[in-house]
Amino acid sequence: MPDALAVTRTHCPYCALQCGTRITGRGGAAVTVEPADFPVNRGRLCQKGWTAHEVLTAPDRLTTPLVRSRDGRLLTSSWDSALDTVADGLDRVRARYGPDASAVFGGGGLTNEKAYMLGKFARLALGTSNIDYNGRFCMSSAAAAGNDAFGVDRGLPFPVTDLARARTVLLAGANVAETMPPLMQHLDRARLIVVDPRHSATARRAALHLQPAPGTDLALALGLLHLAITDGLVDKTYVDQRTRGFETIATRAAAWWPERTEEVTGVSAHAQRTAVRLLAESRDSYILTGRGVEQHRQGTATAAAFINLALALGLPGTPGGGYGCLTGQGNGQGGREHGQKTDQLPGYRSLTDPADRAHVAGVWGVPPDRLPGPGLRAYELLDALGEEHGPHALLVLGSNPMVSAPHAARIAARLASLDLLVVADFVPSETAQAADVVLPVTQWAEEEGTLTNLEGRVLRRRALLSPPRSARSDLEILHGIAVRLGEPAERYPTEPREVFEELRAASRGGRADYSGITYDRLDAGEALYWPCPDTDTPHPGTPRLFLDGFAHPDGRARFADVEHDGPAEATDAEYPVHATTGRILSHYQSGAQTRRVTELAAVASEAFVEVHPDTAARHGLAEGALARVTSARGGMTARVRLDPTLRPDTVFVPFHFGGDGRANLFTNPALDPRSGMPEFKVSAVRLDPLPE
Ligand code: SF4
Repeated sequence: MPDALAVTRTHCPYCALQCGTRITGRGGAAVTVEPADFPVNRGRLCQKGWTAHEVLTAPDRLTTPLVRSRDGRLLTSSWDSALDTVADGLDRVRARYGPDASAVFGGGGLTNEKAYMLGKFARLALGTSNIDYNGRFCMSSAAAAGNDAFGVDRGLPFPVTDLARARTVLLAGANVAETMPPLMQHLDRARLIVVDPRHSATARRAALHLQPAPGTDLALALGLLHLAITDGLVDKTYVDQRTRGFETIATRAAAWWPERTEEVTGVSAHAQRTAVRLLAESRDSYILTGRGVEQHRQGTATAAAFINLALALGLPGTPGGGYGCLTGQGNGQGGREHGQKTDQLPGYRSLTDPADRAHVAGVWGVPPDRLPGPGLRAYELLDALGEEHGPHALLVLGSNPMVSAPHAARIAARLASLDLLVVADFVPSETAQAADVVLPVTQWAEEEGTLTNLEGRVLRRRALLSPPRSARSDLEILHGIAVRLGEPAERYPTEPREVFEELRAASRGGRADYSGITYDRLDAGEALYWPCPDTDTPHPGTPRLFLDGFAHPDGRARFADVEHDGPAEATDAEYPVHATTGRILSHYQSGAQTRRVTELAAVASEAFVEVHPDTAARHGLAEGALARVTSARGGMTARVRLDPTLRPDTVFVPFHFGGDGRANLFTNPALDPRSGMPEFKVSAVRLDPLPE
């Protein structure tokens, strides 16, 4: 019945909101994607969601394995031959350099099952400590800050729909109107305070826009805490009963009086005071952070500073208010829970905790000492590729680091120095084009699995379509390589449901406990948020965390002692403006998918740089002209868009484009020591006009 209409309910393949969708297919291809009635999107989608089916039939969709020939061309290959090439290459690297010389780089869009299996594959089949993923570039700072403050990190510790009752919402570094448009409907009633150097689409809908200089968000948060204290707005009972560490940070904040904060950030003392008063006016207030304040070398401290403010106002763990991080990637939440982070085992278990190691090793049927320890974090791992003591073989799943990693020219050179680069993808991304072996994989509408959205709600992804004949799932690929490396076949199941059953067992008793969640319960329509332990009577899941106490042993949240240190790079005569990077409505992440969608490419087909007209005039730039944006690391080419609402000391470049339009050619890999997050959001650059 190739022409029969088929319909299924699933979720959008892109961002962490994971809007519910209803897809219709005919003849093996998706015909339409429509919004489903799901709480986070309530019948709405953004333009990426509406057009998501187009990627399935991208003209350059990979349908057969490719292996690089001696003369440097990628040639079609059988699966057996391609997987033999991969296994032989991994064997050679292991024999020559040892197990840590093989590395794995995963992605925050992989399903829970794939992320879980990737961690198991790296530690058992490869025996390497070097596994990490692109989520390190996404929300790792907020995750670290959340763990430190609350004892566990779940992006939003409450359902998105709770925001609909908020009186005031402070969005720090989150341009929701472009990155997650359906979320805006939950903010309709709230007075929005937006912290962003750009007068973004979200800022245009705000009651108050605070426009700090790039890299000064931490100072601003300290200044707001100062005012909360001096204006008597701190919830003393909450602080006494539910937190620890207030006195230290109060002393620190004392030095951030409004005038000093204004001098450092550019945000007026009046605006600071208005923001704090709006937040403190009722208990129905939320503080939400996004990448804008998190992607800094002080990202963890900055997220912690906003958590400090929320704690001082008595918001987290209360029924009507709180703090949350707006996780970005499709499975940004689940992707960080199940073992593809270098320091982590499934269920948010720690790779350095003996009890955690023993539990997971038991589920995997190996002795605990078979599990290697933590290895290099994402940028450090990519930066060490091909170096004497670094990895010499790399397997990439669900990621495009040629575009998404900072200091992209350096990373391209490191990838080129490898003995073996293997990329599993469904389109020839920039990283796939540089690979020795390319393995074509199935896509979202062709596969089963689960994802965990930004609220910690576990969702079912359902298959409607058959994949192209030669594409295989990532699970099948990991199985095929592992078996060739001598691992028992049964250790690497390929059916998502079977993998999920194993994940449930591995997570049992962990901080992100999925043991009470089953495909059957999800398919029956239950809304299950972790933790959801496997109890005698089915556990209902936990939509709201921390109402009865935080996850630290004493039940109290922790204030963090943080101090503003500024961005790694100051502007100077050679590089006189700061560049910040981010997302736009029509594209997603490295753009490997959305640049292939006709409608989305028509909206934004090439890189651009937003510049204040005065700044443009000073640099000889005009609307629509080409410019070179250059930092100490390198430059990229972009078309000029004049924007009088920008700060004159700041330009903005979206990071979705490839080739010479890669924003990451100029970004700074200065790392946050706690999370490993690079400083994507502030680089000192110069602007030069280019001839057409
Ligand atoms: Fe997809 Fe995110 Fe757009 Fe929803 S907001 S349709 S999940 S990209």
